[in-house]
Parts: sequence; structure tokens; C-alpha cells
Amino acid sequence: MSLTRSRLLQEMGIDPVWRLRDGNAAETPAATASTSAEMDAGDAGLGPAVKQGSPTPMAAGVAADMAGVATMDWPALRTAVADCQACGLCRERKQAVLGVGDEQADWLFIGEGPGAEEDARGEPFVGQAGKLLDAMLAAIDLKRGDNVYIANAVKCRPPGNRTPEAGEMAACWPYLKRQIALIRPKLIVLLGRAAMHAVLKEERALGASRGTLFEYRDGELVVPVLVTYHPAYLLRNLPDKAKAWEDLCLARRTMRQQQSAGSDLPSDPPTRGN
Ligand code: URA
Ligand code: SF4
Repeated sequence: MSLTRSRLLQEMGIDPVWRLRDGNAAETPAATASTSAEMDAGDAGLGPAVKQGSPTPMAAGVAADMAGVATMDWPALRTAVADCQACGLCRERKQAVLGVGDEQADWLFIGEGPGAEEDARGEPFVGQAGKLLDAMLAAIDLKRGDNVYIANAVKCRPPGNRTPEAGEMAACWPYLKRQIALIRPKLIVLLGRAAMHAVLKEERALGASRGTLFEYRDGELVVPVLVTYHPAYLLRNLPDKAKAWEDLCLARRTMRQQQSAGSDLPSDPPTRGN
């Protein structure tokens, strides 16, 4: 198992940089005070959910349809996203890509939007950036689908892999918000600036937001949030991998704190033999 992981890291050119030391070593103290993001349906602060004058198949019914998203279960959400025409990205997609993984995961990673391979296969992060994300997960002993859910700020591929526009992320926000509410993760890791904008309304540069523990709030749900570089950015900016590694170590520490806080709760079922 660890051999496999080591080989994977070597293939990605990040071994030995992304190798956990024993226990909590190798980790940089970085968490600071947080800001919080109180989000309501459709209020991602990214401009109007429906762009004015946009020649998309959107209609007056869209806003009303989106109101229903807040109470959807997973099958309804999946269908709604597959059929969604709430922004112009629906026009060139092969298929919408909702997300992948454990629907009760402690870890939620959020990227930007599907690329060509994701659009073809219907799963987030399956191209080159996805390989690096898998390596990043492996570096902190995580695996896609195993206590991990991966989603994107927009569910349909932006043409030419451009960054999704603010209005597109705002249009798609109700789906991501519902995913967060259904998963109830213990930690959200935002990959790149677009995800940070979509979830936190945070306008600072990514480099200035790393190492800060944010909070996502939705009613009674409060989830710590960390940001790090998008894997596609890291593929182009190799020296920043070391910073991403620091971020992952902070994420791991934060998760441990969350998990031990959670285990004190009386609602946790007692462990029984047999
Ligand atoms: N980049 C993303 O942000 N998401 C994907 O699913 C793939 C690449
Ligand atoms: Fe709908 Fe989101 Fe796709 Fe836009 S990106 S069409 S809002 S699912």
C-alpha cells in the first residue's frame, strides 16, 4: 500500500516532497483567525444568477426551479443537474458532472469546473489535474471515494476550459450548496481561486488566503474551510507544490481536530465488538 503510494508520488514528481513524516511532524503552524461566509440560496455574491441578455435557454421558471434545489435528495439533485439549463454552460456540455465520492464524506474537495475529460466521462478530476489531485490525496492517506467527495463550482464544462464566469458560478451555486448540506463534511478544501470565490465570496488572491481557516455557515451547519492551489496551477508552477503540501498538512491537522471534537458528541454510536 505504502509502496504503491510512494510510486505514485514519484511518478507525479512530488516524492519525496509530499511524504508525510511520522505523526504531526513536518507541518507548519499556519491557521489564523477566520472570516465566515453566511450563504443563502443564490447569493454567492458573484453577480446575477442569470446574466442579463444572455442568449441561453433560461426562462422565468429557472429561479423558481432553483428554489426547490434546497430540499432535494441525491437522486433529485442528480436529475436536476443532468437536465439543468440555468446558465449558458449547458449549451456545449456533453454531460453535467455533479461530483464523485462518498456522500457522507468527512472531506469535501471543490474544484473549478469539468474539463474535456471530465465532460466526456462524467466524473470530476479525471484528467491530468485529476492525477495530481489523486497524488495529493494519497500524500495525506486519502483516496478518491473513500471518506472523500470531490465536486466543482460549476457542473458543466466551460468552453476551452476557461475559468467559469462569476454569473455561471452564481447560477450553479444552489447545487453546490445542496451538496454541502447533504454531505455535511467536517472540512472543505477549496482548490483554486474560482472555488474560493464561489464558496467563500473571498476576493483576495489565493496566495493571501492560504493558511487561513475560514468558516462556511449554512443555518446550523458550520464547516471549516481551507484553500489551496488548484492542481492544474501546480502542474504549471512546480515550486508552489511545497506550499500546497503545507496546506495539506494543515488540512490534515484541522481534520484531526474536527474528528476528535466530533467523537466527544453523545450522538456518536458506541463502538461494540461483534
Ligand atoms: N479542474 C477542475 O477544477 N475540476 C475538474 O473536475 C477537472 C479539472
Ligand atoms: Fe446548470 Fe450549473 Fe450547468 Fe450552469 S453550470 S447549466 S447552472 S448545472
